[in-house]
Amino acid sequence: MKKNPLTAYRKKRDFTKTTEPRGSIKKKNAPIFVIQYHEATHPHYDFRLEIDEVLKSWAVPKGPSLNPREKRLAIPTDDHPIEYAKFEGIIPPGEYGAGTVMVWDYGTYENIKEKDGTLIPMDKCYKRGQIEVFLKGEKLEGAFSLIRIRINEKDQWLLVKMRDEYADAQRSFGKARSVLTGRTIAQIKRAD
Ligand code: MN
Repeated sequence: MKKNPLTAYRKKRDFTKTTEPRGSIKKKNAPIFVIQYHEATHPHYDFRLEIDEVLKSWAVPKGPSLNPREKRLAIPTDDHPIEYAKFEGIIPPGEYGAGTVMVWDYGTYENIKEKDGTLIPMDKCYKRGQIEVFLKGEKLEGAFSLIRIRINEKDQWLLVKMRDEYADAQRSFGKARSVLTGRTIAQIKRAD
């Protein structure tokens, strides 16, 4: 079992006599992922994974597929703040990324990339360009890999469904609604 880092602090104090806090270790919540459908000049899906307190991000022109045979190009983009995961609405004309954003899927993920039976920390997976995650979203479930490759001397990634019981060569998502508000892209446009 992991050593409690507060043990030394607690041993020196009698909390029946001092009003100092006994304290607790903040249990870290599972990291989140989000996929935002972004109807910009070139519509795409922004795939984002919480890694190291930011959302590491990729633009996926065709969006995710449940078919392990369909490798989806994922172009790395700027890190975004965690709060961005719940952003839905209109980015005004003339602004960076002008267009409409819908929270297409949202959930938590589990790092499943291991070597010799040991999990490789997410930041290392990212740096190595070899990510394997199990997504627990509203629409997506199951294991996906993100692998960095070189195309025309540029770093690109491929988002691919890994083979598991959630893989499905037939299923597609069609005209989707926001998992945050239930709205269609047209409704989001109208509301703003
Ligand atoms: Mn985008």
